Amino acid sequence: MKSVDTVTEEPPDAKASESSPIHARPPGTALTDRFDKAIPRRVAPRFRMSERSASFLGEFYPQASIADWNDWRWQNRNRIRNLADLGRVIRLTDEETDAIRRHTGSLPVGITPYYASLLDPADPMQALRRTVVPLSGEHLLTPGENQDPLGEDGHSPVPGLVHRYPDRVLLLVTNFCSVYCRYCTRARMVGSVGERSVKKHDIDAALAYIENTPAIRDVLISGGDPLSLDDDRLDDILRRLRRIPHVEFVRIGSKQPVVQPMRVTPELTKILRRYHPLWMSLHFTHPDEITPEVEQACGRLADAGIPLGSQTVLLRDVNDDVDTMRSLVHGLLRCRVKPYYLYQCDPISGSAHFRTPVSKGVELIRALRGHTTGYAVPTFVVDAPGGGGKIPIAPDYVVGYDGDDLLLRSYDGGTYRYPDQGSSLEGPGEKS
Ligand code: SF4
Repeated sequence: MKSVDTVTEEPPDAKASESSPIHARPPGTALTDRFDKAIPRRVAPRFRMSERSASFLGEFYPQASIADWNDWRWQNRNRIRNLADLGRVIRLTDEETDAIRRHTGSLPVGITPYYASLLDPADPMQALRRTVVPLSGEHLLTPGENQDPLGEDGHSPVPGLVHRYPDRVLLLVTNFCSVYCRYCTRARMVGSVGERSVKKHDIDAALAYIENTPAIRDVLISGGDPLSLDDDRLDDILRRLRRIPHVEFVRIGSKQPVVQPMRVTPELTKILRRYHPLWMSLHFTHPDEITPEVEQACGRLADAGIPLGSQTVLLRDVNDDVDTMRSLVHGLLRCRVKPYYLYQCDPISGSAHFRTPVSKGVELIRALRGHTTGYAVPTFVVDAPGGGGKIPIAPDYVVGYDGDDLLLRSYDGGTYRYPDQGSSLEGPGEKS
């Protein structure tokens, strides 16, 4: 089988990064100072803008308009991609500076101006900052880690397609993301060899494979980030997929609505709504990502009839406490997004500083289940290294049997009996 590593990208299109329009922060300026500034000038935005974004725009991109800011292509062209530009919007620590200088290869630094506006310039421990600014831990390889922990490359019959389960495939349509998460499972390939989309002939080969494999009923479009493709390319892929009679179900996995919410344009939702049933998994990490802009983006997708679920990676010192996780899942429901999966962080190379013990995930689910709305509780899974798929791990609510009575523990610690004659349930205190 060919490797997904053979996927190539178009050259970067971020011309603006060659002569950055970012202006330096005046010394001593606090983040909160910037929120009080008036929204700069002129064009009525098609996408409602928070004061935070407006303030950041006024301070760091004074030549740009609100219309520029709300244009996802402008956001792409002006991504922060190097040490100098990042140093203008946050005060980098020696560790961050060193980690960026040492970085080579895939998973470069990439942060949209919008997402940069959410970073705390003064606090290196701020959750969002830790997810997008490299740390020295990235350069530390610990036992059990590897570049492809899920064994995707070994299940790739054509470049850009992973076929592990008989009835569904993962279609990787790009290795570009507008923001690169430092814990990315596909760190080995995203952002490599320049940036941008998979070549057309790769997509053609992948679609031909799907067409010639009648067992495939479900296609997950991922990458990189599929919503980083322009409308025409995305439309073309969806249309060709929908023409295949045995493809019943199409999903898109994306972080774009979170890191670049202005990508969710009326034109995009018009395209997406043509291809139902279409579901979407959005990648959220922390409640600070739930901004007025992101609420609008999720609302637009939901209004287009797209069921939305969230996928969250459990990360040390980012979202591994009950208050943060509760705040995230409640915020997601308000945005019409069902918390779907909470993932144990995959053991990619250089991920030890992000990984928690598995017991932490169980502890978080125990703190949510029964204590809040059932829709708010995600399924905690370990994606088994080597390709075993997602294995759910839940707190154990089964105490055992007393005769024919099943003994159960409730969410608040009480013990209850259920008359369970004839059951063959196995587990602790297995019925004899
Ligand atoms: S958006 Fe997804 S694919 Fe892109 S860097 Fe983040 S985790 Fe990886």
